[in-house]
Order: sequence, then C-alpha cells, then structure tokens
Amino acid sequence: MDRNQIMEWLAAVEHPGKGDKSIVELGMVESVGADGNKVSVTLAFPKRPDPLKQYLIGAVKAAIYRNAPQYVEVEVTSVVKEPAKAAPQKPELTLKELTGVRHIIGVASGKGGVGKSTVAVNLAVALARLGYKVGLSDADVYGPSIPIMTGTEGAVPEAEKEDGQDVLFPVEKFGVKWMSIGYFAQSEQALIWRGPMACSALKQMILQVRWGDLDFLLIDMPPGTGDIHISLVQEIPMEAAIIVTTPQDVALADVEKGVDMFRNPSIARRILGLVENMAWFTPAELPENKYFIFGRDGGLRMAERFDIPLLGQIPIVQSIREDGDAGTPAATGSGPDAVCFLELAQKVAETI
Ligand code: ADP
Repeated sequence: MDRNQIMEWLAAVEHPGKGDKSIVELGMVESVGADGNKVSVTLAFPKRPDPLKQYLIGAVKAAIYRNAPQYVEVEVTSVVKEPAKAAPQKPELTLKELTGVRHIIGVASGKGGVGKSTVAVNLAVALARLGYKVGLSDADVYGPSIPIMTGTEGAVPEAEKEDGQDVLFPVEKFGVKWMSIGYFAQSEQALIWRGPMACSALKQMILQVRWGDLDFLLIDMPPGTGDIHISLVQEIPMEAAIIVTTPQDVALADVEKGVDMFRNPSIARRILGLVENMAWFTPAELPENKYFIFGRDGGLRMAERFDIPLLGQIPIVQSIREDGDAGTPAATGSGPDAVCFLELAQKVAETI
C-alpha cells in the first residue's frame, strides 16, 4: 500500500481541540507503514497530556478501516514528541464576533433536568423586556431545546462567507437573538454530537455568530461539569456564570461541583449567583398558595453555604412547562411567573 494513500486518509482526521485542523497538517503523523494485512501508524503527542489522545487513536483506526477494510489489523502507537510545526491552512476561530458584546454569562447546572434551559430562555426574554440587547447561544449540544422553547424550530440561520469562514446570523424573536445547534441537526442526529465534536461545534455556535452589539450574551451550557465545560469556559471570554438548581438536598453535591469548577484557578470565573428553580409549587387556581414540595429554602441554604447571592426563586407552575412546549416563553406574558423572571432579570442586571 502506498504511504501517500494512507496519508491522504489520515489528512481527513481532524483534531477537535486544535480548531479542527487535520493531524497531518498539525505534523502529528510521525510515521506510517503497511505490511501484509497490517497498517501501522505512529502519532506524535506533545509533552503536555492531550485529553483527546485516545479519541485521535480511535479516529485514525476508523479512517483506515473505513477506506481499506482489507487491513484486518491497524496498530497505532504514540510517541511523546513536540509535533513538527506545519503552516495552518484553516483560519482559527477568533473572538472577533464578540467584540460588540458587553457581558457574556454562562447559565450552568450540575445536572440535567433542573430547568436550566427554561431559566436561560426566560431570563433572555425578560432582559430584553427590560430594554437590554440580548442574545442566547444554546450550547447544550446534548439536548438543544431552545428552538422548541422559542418556537423557532425549522428556522435556518443565514450564513455568509468572510475570510474563508462561515459567519452565521442569529434567529431573532421576542427581541432576542437566538443561536442553537438544534437549527442544524435534526433531533435524531443530535445524539451524535458527543465528546470532542460537540466541543468544537458549540464553540462555533458562539464564535461564528454575527451577534452585533449586545448588552448580554447568555450561554446555555451543557449540564454537568466535564471537559466540554472547562474547554468552553477557557476559550470563551465568559465573564460570569449563573448556576441553576432545584431546592432538594440531593442537588447540593451537584451545585458544589459547579461552584468548584468555576472557582478552580484554571477557570476562575465569577459566579454571579444561584437561581433556585422549582422553589415551590403554585396551582393556577390558587396563585397565592405555595407548596414547598422539594423542601423549603434549599436554594437559600446553598447560596449561603457557598457564599454566592441567591438571584431568584422560580416556582413550579404548570404554565411554565406548557409555555416552553408551545414556544412562547412564560416571560413574554403578564402572569406571576413572568414577574418572577423579570425580577430575576433585574437582579442579574444589577449584580453584574
Ligand atoms: P434542563 O435544561 O436543566 O435540562 P429544562 O429547562 O429542559 O431543564 O426543563 C426540564 C423540564 O422541566 C421542561 O419540560 C420544562 O418545561 C420543565 N420546567 C422547568 N422549570 C419549570 C418550572 N419552574 N415550572 C414548571 N416546569 C418547569
């Protein structure tokens, strides 16, 4: 087998942590060889541990098996060596599109299902109602829900080429500029956005968008505190984070992980505060009644324990879910739930 042929296949293997440059372009392919039914590839990794090493080894194997299934054995070894520098071909993602944005705030949660996206969408709408210029990027690649919650599913963001790079235009509705990976992937495809691929895709959802002048750009972060979050926070000039939680004691450990992540010296971002979602239940027919079904003041205790402000408390109201499903966020209305989000927005604006 021709070595050049193998190099050609390897050129299609991209390093998602390095602006999707090919491993060939990055000078990481130390040697290739083919002998009988076996292909051997040696990859060079720098001294600094590359968290994507295993992923790249797998991707190299996959590229060879895909192109030449006749090779029953593919061996990939790695050596520690600073890869040879090669001239970059693809333009790097830059922070250019964020220059008109005053405050970038991540909306995070320790785990899924606490209402992080609901809070992010309603906070965005509420800030816009207060007169601020607002954008929201849905970086929750595991379950992009912003298109449904805002009734913009099916929207196709316009794109323009600039300096060899696609620039995307956000979808505007309720006075907010929205961008979501959900506009590009069908719901059944969303599942494939995992690991490193997800990481680079979601950076594009923030960095390659023509946001224009904004007072606030909210980033609906994926739930949890894994590698994606660290990479995202490090590479985006995120000024602060809001952590969404439910009042139960079991949520404490998750909030702690989130707080630890943002306070870790390698990230060191301000935690603007905590939002306690599902703080109590209020039935529509008894708007004055509060039922503390997940316990009382859990959010307040958490905020005190971690020494961060409690920015707001949002009740469980059936209409919040219904409005989310219907694509008209509760904060667009005039009910008590809308008022909660407007108060939250006011508090966020004051705190920052
Ligand atoms: P996450 O982003 O944390 O995974 P979501 O925002 O998608 O959570 O919310 C999960 C579900 O809970 C959705 O169906 C949403 O409509 C519902 N929900 C969230 N917050 C509330 C609330 N305060 N009252 C009623 N339903 C809510």
